[in-house]
Amino acid sequence: MGMPQRFDLLVVGGGVIGLSVAWRAARGGLRAAVMDPAPASGASHAAAGMLAPVSEVTYTEEPLLRLGLASLDRWPSFAAELAADAGCEVGDLDYRDGGTLDVAFGADDMAALEEIAAFATGLGLPARRLTGRECRRLEPMLAPSVRGGMLAERDAWVDPRKVTAALLTALERRGVTLLRTRAAALETSAGRVTGVRPAAGGTVGADRVVLATGAWSGGPGGAGAPAAIEGLPPGILPPVRPVKGQIMRLRSPEPILGRCVRGTVHGSHVYLVPRADGELVVGATQEEMGFDTRVTAGGLWELLRDARELLPGVTELELSDAVAGLRPGTPDNLPVIGPAGPPGLWLATGHHRNGVLLAPLTADLCAGDGDPGLLKICSPLRFQEHR
Ligand code: FAD
Repeated sequence: MGMPQRFDLLVVGGGVIGLSVAWRAARGGLRAAVMDPAPASGASHAAAGMLAPVSEVTYTEEPLLRLGLASLDRWPSFAAELAADAGCEVGDLDYRDGGTLDVAFGADDMAALEEIAAFATGLGLPARRLTGRECRRLEPMLAPSVRGGMLAERDAWVDPRKVTAALLTALERRGVTLLRTRAAALETSAGRVTGVRPAAGGTVGADRVVLATGAWSGGPGGAGAPAAIEGLPPGILPPVRPVKGQIMRLRSPEPILGRCVRGTVHGSHVYLVPRADGELVVGATQEEMGFDTRVTAGGLWELLRDARELLPGVTELELSDAVAGLRPGTPDNLPVIGPAGPPGLWLATGHHRNGVLLAPLTADLCAGDGDPGLLKICSPLRFQEHR
């Protein structure tokens, strides 16, 4: 691969996070590279693309809400700049901002929704309570048994596959090097990270290495785990674990929803994300299954069973795709972004359920552009201190 090479910034991992970090750096004038044997094929390929900090809100997760809102604010300019750099239109990314409608069926779900709506409005967030009739007026295809809902008006959504494709094009146009190989080890010298040893051999030198390897960021795993990146003292890599999500894509001639719809059915959560071309994304399971990415009959059955409660017409649609992805989960559900300890090493991982939403903020934080208070929330050192 024509070694040796040296870069200002080398990003290991080419999912939505790594590609966004490299793109932002290249826009800032840095000589950047991305190393990944299969870019855009991990969780970012599976993701639904909801940009939904408000409808994901829970009482215990206010820091995550702060991060989500800060990144949602960045999405319009991120999408516009990305489209311009990739030579396409914002509409080609399927970026839309019509809000998320959370619906409830039973009395318990209604009570939970009321509490969330009160919490959200108490924080000054736009969350409108709706009757069942108002929900169906917004979305006529919804089941008649919907009792009520909450419209999180600021929430948006995007097609992550189109975003990563645009990022790859934008990187190429900005002259960013894409190294299609696995990172085997980090190179260090006098305690400083100086580059990466690719599985293909040689060394790629960099002033800064950013590890953005998603669910594969967690150091040596258990049986069945892929090889960890070597070369670091123990305790530097964060406790990231894979959280499996199965998701399916259906197709109808016309969009059958105008916005994202979520609901709780028999205690499990299901969501529906419409695309402009008639695709309807139905997601997603949450399973602790290690690095297993099999799509199972049971997983798809659960999704369809629950989706049909929300939208009875769903079973008429054509099934066009079903995949499983691995979310990079952390013990506190917050991402891990920032300097990792040894000089020259940053982490940008652990985005769990919100990596698409948080991509613009992550890219800005890695470029030194963003609220230091937000960077502190994400500090990798919060895990190292307890070891
Ligand atoms: P990934 O996309 O997994 O990329 C990691 C990359 O690292 C991979 O390409 C891999 O090949 C590479 N890699 C690993 N090891 C190495 C190595 N040693 N050397 C080089 N490269 C390596 N988020 C939202 O915001 N909204 C949603 O609606 C949403 N829906 C989701 C639905 C599902 C079913 C799933 C699974 C996730 C969903 N997410 C959603 C979460 C989101 O997908 C993730 O948080 C996000 O994709 C993480 O991006 P990433 O770049 O860190 O990881």
